[in-house]
Amino acid sequence: EKPLHVVSVSVEMAPIAKVGGLGDVVTSLGLAVQAEGHKVEVVLPKYDVLKYDLIEDLKEEEGFQWGGCYNHVFSGTVEGVKTYFIDPDNGMFKVGMIYGTDYLEIPLTDAERFGYFSRAALEWMLQSGRQPDIIHCHDWQTAPVAKVYWEDYHNYGLGNPRVVFTIHNLDFGQSLIREAMDYSQIGTTVSRSYAQEISGHDSISHQLQKFHGVVNGIDPDIWDPANDKCLPVSYEIDTVAEGKAACRAALCSRSNISNKSDVPLIGVVTRLTHQKGIHLIKHAIFKALERGCQVVLLGSAPDPNVQREFEDMANALKQNHFNDAALHLYFDEPLSHLIYAGSDMILVPSMFEPCGLSQLIAMRYGTVPVVRRTGGLADTVFDYDHDHAKAEWEGMTPNGFQFDGTEAHDIDYALNRAIDLFYNDIEKFHALQANCMSCDFSWNRPALDYIELYHAARK
Ligand code: ADP
Repeated sequence: EKPLHVVSVSVEMAPIAKVGGLGDVVTSLGLAVQAEGHKVEVVLPKYDVLKYDLIEDLKEEEGFQWGGCYNHVFSGTVEGVKTYFIDPDNGMFKVGMIYGTDYLEIPLTDAERFGYFSRAALEWMLQSGRQPDIIHCHDWQTAPVAKVYWEDYHNYGLGNPRVVFTIHNLDFGQSLIREAMDYSQIGTTVSRSYAQEISGHDSISHQLQKFHGVVNGIDPDIWDPANDKCLPVSYEIDTVAEGKAACRAALCSRSNISNKSDVPLIGVVTRLTHQKGIHLIKHAIFKALERGCQVVLLGSAPDPNVQREFEDMANALKQNHFNDAALHLYFDEPLSHLIYAGSDMILVPSMFEPCGLSQLIAMRYGTVPVVRRTGGLADTVFDYDHDHAKAEWEGMTPNGFQFDGTEAHDIDYALNRAIDLFYNDIEKFHALQANCMSCDFSWNRPALDYIELYHAARK
């Protein structure tokens, strides 16, 4: 079969414009599909806030007149993926943030700006003579691509591309998602369990025959304890204990807490929103401290009230637990690496979780996930006491601890078992860490699933 040409239209892309998991997926799925011999291009708005130093060979290409203004187009390479940036003269992406429009003078909503971008991306494909096989759009932001393509661009010089639409999080922009589900040839979401959980939703339930769950991978080169500039040492599966001990020492010193190497260090890396189970995170921090553990959290809250709540909590912890707990309440990519490597366990008690990357990253660094059984967490974490058969079925070994429910005693059930194993049988705990590291959560398998779906979309 001849290689596919895929154009991915997105408003986030790691590491140059990353807000959450969506940005990671666009880059690493693109790379993985490319590695299978296909051609992948990404189209992105050219925000002021892009991390320009991480774009290679940035140069201006031919632009196009459309939408009442001239649209400049730039090209560059991001982590090996060819990327095009649209920069309209109306200035709607000249902003210092990806969502929201801080210093932009034209009052526009994100839906209006990304609606414009979705159309502009199609117009650029047309005017630049592109004839892709697949246009892949993501979440509500570029959901309009599906409908606009079939209404205004089909049979009109783009060749005959088909549209694949991926839901990274159904929580946002639901009417746009319904439209994209109707107009795309294949709809996907980022884990099988999440696909099942949202299958009754009225934007999806009538389109189940074309709806698939494919679990996300992580890029094993970006997240690699054997080669990670953010860590003081490198380590692999057979040096995990020493490697993690050195990372833990660095993490404790960076966090201004003492290093008590014979108690568990529990890490959290997350957006602080309702989705992520804030009430359980708070409870678990106190529970862990009560059991003699140390805790390091890295997270920021888009809601200023929540941010303030956590700042208050950080101050209170500085009074009573200054040697054992540190809350870093901002976004910090390098520090996230140090937490993934330096912790013994990572806590992910999400209320819902389409896929979740933090548990996958943690496992790659030999850190044991303690998670709520939902969405992608249910598909990637296999409980040490309960999921032996399920793990075996997936070709894996038990790699963490899970709980159901949303109450304090529910999370205690999983957290206590993890802490007990550490205190009572450190050898077994180290073996569990090795299990985590040996799981393959790369894009190898999911990329093949996507390629199959790209082919299915063309049938
Ligand atoms: P979501 O996309 O819902 O936020 P995911 O688990 O899919 O959740 O992806 C979150 C990504 O963002 C992970 O790569 C995680 O390490 C990163 N991340 C979250 N919060 C922070 C933070 N405060 N600092 C650095 N990285 C963060």
